Amino acid sequence: MSPSVTSLCHKRPPPVPLSPISMPFPKPQSRASARRAKARHKASVIASVRRQIAQRDTTCRVCGKAFGWGEQTPEMHELTSRAALRGKPPEEIFTPENCVLLHRSCHRDVTEHRVTLAPVHLDRGATGDLVSERRQTHG
Ligand SMILES: [Zn+2]
Repeated sequence: MSPSVTSLCHKRPPPVPLSPISMPFPKPQSRASARRAKARHKASVIASVRRQIAQRDTTCRVCGKAFGWGEQTPEMHELTSRAALRGKPPEEIFTPENCVLLHRSCHRDVTEHRVTLAPVHLDRGATGDLVSERRQTHG
C-alpha cells in the first residue's frame, strides 16, 4: 500500500516553546533593552537642556569669555552634582536652573574645587546670576 498524500505532506509539529522557568536567565533581553531605553531617554533630556542653555550661556559662566576650541570648548556642568541627585529622574537633574556651560578649563577648576560657582538667587539657580570665586591657594 502506497503512502497517502496526507502522510507525505505531514507537517512537523511546531516546536514546543521554551518555558521561561526552564531558561537559566529569564529576561536578559528585556532588562538590557529597558536599560538602553533609559540611557536613550537620559541622553535626549541632556541634549534638550544643552540646546536650551546654549542659547542663554553664550559665554563661559565662570570667566565670561567666549567659547572656542580645546580648553575653550563649552562643557555642561550641573550646579548640584548628579551624584548628589542620584536616583532622581534626568528631568530633575538636567534643567536650565541646574545646568551651565563652562570652558573645559573652567569646568575642571570647578570640579577640582579651585573655583566655587553658586547661584545668587537659589530659587532661580543658573537662570539667574552666578558668583564664581577662585579659591586662595596656599603653598
Ligand atoms: Zn571660562
